[in-house]
Order: sequence, then C-alpha cells, then structure tokens
Amino acid sequence: MTEPVFNKIAIIGAGLIGASIARAAVQYGAAGTVNLYDSSEDVRQRAAGIALGDVADNLATAVAEADCVFLCVPVGALQAVAADAVPLMKAGAVLTDVGSVKGQATEALAAAADGRVHIIPGHPIAGTEQSGPEAGFPTLFQNAWHILTPLADGDDNYDAAVSTLEAFWTQLGATVETMDAARHDRVLAITSHLPHLIAFNIVATAFDMETVEQGEVVKYSAGGFRDFTRIAASDPVMWRDVFLNNKDAVLECLGRFSEDLAALQRAIRWGDGETLFNEFNRARSIRKAIIDAGQDSGAVNFGRNLPKGDEDEGA
Ligand code: NAP
Repeated sequence: MTEPVFNKIAIIGAGLIGASIARAAVQYGAAGTVNLYDSSEDVRQRAAGIALGDVADNLATAVAEADCVFLCVPVGALQAVAADAVPLMKAGAVLTDVGSVKGQATEALAAAADGRVHIIPGHPIAGTEQSGPEAGFPTLFQNAWHILTPLADGDDNYDAAVSTLEAFWTQLGATVETMDAARHDRVLAITSHLPHLIAFNIVATAFDMETVEQGEVVKYSAGGFRDFTRIAASDPVMWRDVFLNNKDAVLECLGRFSEDLAALQRAIRWGDGETLFNEFNRARSIRKAIIDAGQDSGAVNFGRNLPKGDEDEGA
C-alpha cells in the first residue's frame, strides 16, 4: 500500500466533481482522510448519507487541518469561497480548484492569497451532464487530462507544492499538463464551451419551432438530436458561470463558427455538394483522430445500448 499523497484533504462543494474527487482519493489511496463541506444543508445531508467522507457543517472545520483544499463550486462562487477559506487554512497547505475557466479562477484565487498557502488553479477535463453528490464516481478522472495553471510568482516551495498536487491527480488516474490560464481558456472555448452553447441552442430551437409539436420532438428524436440533449442537460448554474467568465474566447470562437456555418448555409442553398462533402469528410477525419488518440470509444453510438426498438435508427 503506497503512502497517501496528502494526509488530509478538504473538498468544498460536494457535487459531481467534489464527490468524484472524494471517492477517487479514497479508492486510489491518494488521501488519508477526506473532509467535505457544501453551503447547502441538503447537499451536506445527502453527502453524509452516501458516506462520501467526514461532512463538516462549517467551512472552518472542513479546511483547518487539510493539507490540500479543493474548491469544487461553480466558477462564479470561487472568489468568495477562496477569500473565506484561505485565512482558515494551515500554513504551507495547497489551495486548488476545478473550475472550467482558468483566467477568472486564477484571479479569484490569487486575490485571496496571503503568502501562507500555495495557490495552484486546476481543471479536470472530465465530467458528465449530471450534478450533485450522488453523481460522483471514482473512475471519472481515469485516462483524463488534468490541467494545472500555476501562478507565475510562487514562493520557494511553490514548485514542490505543484509536484505534490500533480502526484495526487496522477494517482487518481489523470495525466497532468501545465499551461497558462489564457491558453487553457482559448482551447476549452472551442473544445468544450462552444459545443455546450450549440447544444443549449439547438435544443431550445427545436422546442420553439412553431411547426413541430413538442411531443413530436421527443417522440421522433433521432440519435443526433438526442446526443445534443445529453450535453444540454448539463447544470445551468455551472454553464451560466462559464460563459460569463470566458466571454472573450467564447465570442471569438462563436464569430468563426458563425462564418463557417454561413458558408455551409450558402453551399446548401446553391446545391454545392462538393463543399458539403469536403467539409463533412474533414470533420470525419477529426473524429477518427480523436479515437486514434484514445480520447473516445470507436464503438458504434459510443458503445451505448440503444433503447429497445431503436437499433436500426439513423442519426
Ligand atoms: P455541482 O454538481 O452543481 O456541485 C457544485 C456544488 O457546490 C453544489 O452542491 C453547490 O451547492 C455547491 N456550492 C455552490 N456554492 C457554494 C459555496 N459558496 N460554498 C460551498 N459550496 C457551494 O457542480 P459540478 O459539476 O461538480 O461543478 C463544480 C465545478 O467543477 C465548477 O466550477 C465546474 O466549472 C467544474 N467542472 C465541472 C465539470 C462537469 O462536467 N460538471 C467538469 C470539469 C470541471 P448548491 O447546489 O446548493 O448551490
């Protein structure tokens, strides 16, 4: 049995990501003990009910003895929680987060710095469309990237603290990459944020279309639409905060996306099959590259079982 990376960790925000860290830290022996705190009493009770760890009824109790504190709250709440947590933490401990936007998270966490704790923002590139403590599972971070965006002006022991945090995430099964926050936000704008915006929009459009009865959208939903509905079922608070806090990068991607969409619209209008074929063919090769890189399953329909009767349904 290997030594835990941290003797004691505290998780603030016991939702999907917080609960998954709690379960993974125990399952893979990365932490000796796990404290949890959530601002919602209902969430605290549910977390205690499913034995996620030692659930505290206040922030101070949760973080006081922790070697590492993980802020797993929506990005809009990070600044206030970091400001409350840092003065309660012991000297030399690590404060990290899992927020999906790193420029804003870095500013939020750095604003709370008091020179006693090591602040190391981070983001696991792993998740599902579910929320809440029951949604967490220990294998969520296996074979996933975990991006750290360390501060530029850390003290003498900062690099050692970054290495320790890296060891924690590696023990949970993730591959850790370090990059600057601005680059993270540009990359995630196109690979995660814009796809979610498109999914929210297409689902809303389908339900608003005057000619389509809502019952028909549900009844005859094909695989392509159903895949969008899975993404669009993601937590509205989390995603509101992502778009409010990664505004510039998302608007830049959205501009390019709109231009490319207009080109496809034009090709359809003018019967330009060659343009359509070439674009779709290029997209297909990107899907193949993702599968070849081991980032997704190559199985039909992601290897999911289709509902009975849908086996032959097209997308
Ligand atoms: P979640 O399941 O909704 O959990 C967030 C939890 O934080 C909720 O229980 C919430 O309570 C609690 N909370 C909110 N404000 C708080 C505060 N001030 N103090 C303590 N607890 C507070 O959300 P999640 O999916 O785990 O996301 C958490 C973070 O992970 C977000 O920053 C998100 O960007 C990031 N992330 C998410 C994913 C994903 O796929 N979901 C992937 C990577 C990173 P209430 O519900 O009562 O507000």
